[in-house]
Amino acid sequence: MEDLYKAPGIPEDTKEDHLVRAVALGGHVKAVAVSTTAVCEYARSVHKMTNAATAALGRFMTGSLLIAESLKNDTDSQTTIIRSSGPIKGMTCVCDSHGHARAYPVEGNVETTYHYPGKINVGAAVGEGSLTVIRDVGLKEPYSGSVELISGEIAEDFTYYLASSEQTPSVVALGVQIAEGHVTHAGGLMIQMLPGFTDEDLDYVEKRAKGGFPEITFLMEEGFTPAKILDLFMGDPDIQYLDGYPVSFSCPCSAERMKDGLAALGKKDLLELSSSGENIETVCHFCGKKYTFTPEELALLAQGK
Ligand code: ZN
Repeated sequence: MEDLYKAPGIPEDTKEDHLVRAVALGGHVKAVAVSTTAVCEYARSVHKMTNAATAALGRFMTGSLLIAESLKNDTDSQTTIIRSSGPIKGMTCVCDSHGHARAYPVEGNVETTYHYPGKINVGAAVGEGSLTVIRDVGLKEPYSGSVELISGEIAEDFTYYLASSEQTPSVVALGVQIAEGHVTHAGGLMIQMLPGFTDEDLDYVEKRAKGGFPEITFLMEEGFTPAKILDLFMGDPDIQYLDGYPVSFSCPCSAERMKDGLAALGKKDLLELSSSGENIETVCHFCGKKYTFTPEELALLAQGK
C-alpha cells in the first residue's frame, strides 16, 4: 500500500527528513510537504535554544526549505532573514538546491510563553519586524523580496510573503513539536496555485486549510509521511507525486572560509591579534563549529598569505 506514495528521490526510510512535491487539481496546484524533525533537533542542540526559540527557528527553517524547492541549479542559494523586535531579535537561514539548510537565531535563550498549554507562543518570541528572501540563482543581481511580519508565527508570514512579493496565492502550514527539551516531530506543507488555476481551485484549497485541518505534527505523530499529509490535505484521488529529496542541517564552513573572514579584518587588526601571542578562536554562527588560529597563522594572514 505504501507504494502509492512513492516518488523518485524519497529516502527508502520515510522516517528520514525529506521533501516531496506533487501536483493536484488537474495540474492547477503545486503541493509540497517536508519533514524536518532531525533538522530542527540538530538546530536546537547546536544553538542550545529554549523551547520558544527552537519552535521559532524550526518553523523558520521548515518554511525556508519549503520555498527553497524552487531552486534549480547546483549553485543556486536562498537566504531568508527575519529581523524583529521580539526577544529572539532575528533569524537567518541559508538553503541550497540540494535540501541543505543552516540557520541561527540572533538570541536563542528566550523565555517560552504559551497561547494555551502545549501551544508555544512563537509570535511573542519573534515580535514585529520583517521577512526578507534573497535568491541567488546565477543572475547578475540576486532576487530580493521583503514583507512586514503579519504575526511572527512564521507560517502566516511566509504565506503573506508568497502572496504579496511573489504574487502566488499559497497556503503554508508549519509545526514543531517539543517534548522534554527535544524536537519530537517537525514539518510543514505549502500549497501553491499554478498558472491557469480557477477561483474554484483557490476556494477549495482555502476551505481545506480553514476547515480544521489537523496540525502537521499531530499527523506525523500518527505516522503520516509528507506524501500522505499532502494526500490528506488535497483530498484529490488524482494527485501526482513528482519527486522528492532528503533534507538536512548542513553547514559548508571550513578553516579556509573562516580565514577569508578573518582576512577581512585588515592588516592592522590582524597584526594586533597576532602580537597578543595567544590562539584566536572563531565560531561559525550557523553550526557552532570552532576554529583555532595560532599567532603565526594570523601574522601570515596579515601579510596576505
Ligand atoms: Zn558552520
